[in-house]
Amino acid sequence: MNDLGRYSRQILFSGIGENGQLKLLKSKVAIVGVGALGTVCANHLVRSGVGYIRLIDRDVVDLSNLQRQTLFNEQDVSLNLPKAVAAKNRLNSINSTVKIDAAVTDLNLDNAEELLAGFDVIIDGTDNFMTRYLINDVSIKYGIPWVHGAAVSSRGMFTVIKPGITPCYRCLFPHVPAGRGETCDTIGVLSPITDIIGSFQAMEAIKLLLGHVTSTNLEQIDIWDTSFFSMDTKEGKNPQCPACVKFQFDFLDRLSTVQETYSTLCGRDTVQIYFREKRERNLQRLSERLKQNGKVTGNQYLLRFAPDNEISIVVFKDGRVLVHGTDDIIKAKSLFSKYIGN
Ligand SMILES: [Zn+2]
Repeated sequence: MNDLGRYSRQILFSGIGENGQLKLLKSKVAIVGVGALGTVCANHLVRSGVGYIRLIDRDVVDLSNLQRQTLFNEQDVSLNLPKAVAAKNRLNSINSTVKIDAAVTDLNLDNAEELLAGFDVIIDGTDNFMTRYLINDVSIKYGIPWVHGAAVSSRGMFTVIKPGITPCYRCLFPHVPAGRGETCDTIGVLSPITDIIGSFQAMEAIKLLLGHVTSTNLEQIDIWDTSFFSMDTKEGKNPQCPACVKFQFDFLDRLSTVQETYSTLCGRDTVQIYFREKRERNLQRLSERLKQNGKVTGNQYLLRFAPDNEISIVVFKDGRVLVHGTDDIIKAKSLFSKYIGN
């Protein structure tokens, strides 16, 4: 049951009105990554009454997230809650009329089409190029516009990508930049910049849902220097673009070599181990086994195992594993085979 009264202040805004509100109530948005950008954006969209929101995130709430990830609190940390679940809980208490679906998973080529097809808009709340290329492929294949956003240090950027109309993400960023040094892991990030970029993403998403004109720039902001820079992307289309011109979806292609099985996560020393084939874990049995080797905690979504004070290994029900306490992929691999095994 929807009471339009709760949206009265935005219905009064002439760009939205009652018709716009009714449109929002019927709209569907998928948010990939429920970190700093994702929580800010989800908060706005849920309060605005976007009817259906899917939150996709592979990680668990950590104490170091609370500085900027606005939907989480200390209790979420102590309960080891997956971010998608913690965000859904909070958002439901803000607006129980919005349907929210928490997908505790890593977006990858095996599930991207299933998770994203059918949505009206996709929000990029990720922190890595590979997932953005994947979103870009789904966006073009299914004709879904998306809003790219990124923030690190005191700087952030966002742009709207409309398949067939604007340049796509591969037109704008044809290659993954070589050095991986500049991440929130290595140089940090300020919470006002993620708040600003996430808010812009929510605004552009609402404009897309209402059919209103969206920004045609790659907007860049530095809140430490208080500087703003708009790069016009109208002429940015690559006439040879493999994605939006040739419809060659490398990031959805099982045979392509671009996929990573092991990846480091932004924000702390963590290696993720992901398997193409599904491998459901019996967490109860695993827990019994690991109790011999160290401290085991968990809930119905995951098991956390700490063999020592430095390392903790999180095993999710779908088989995915996070090794916290190292960014060394080889070390993570060996810890995995030592304690969890295939
Ligand atoms: Zn393109």
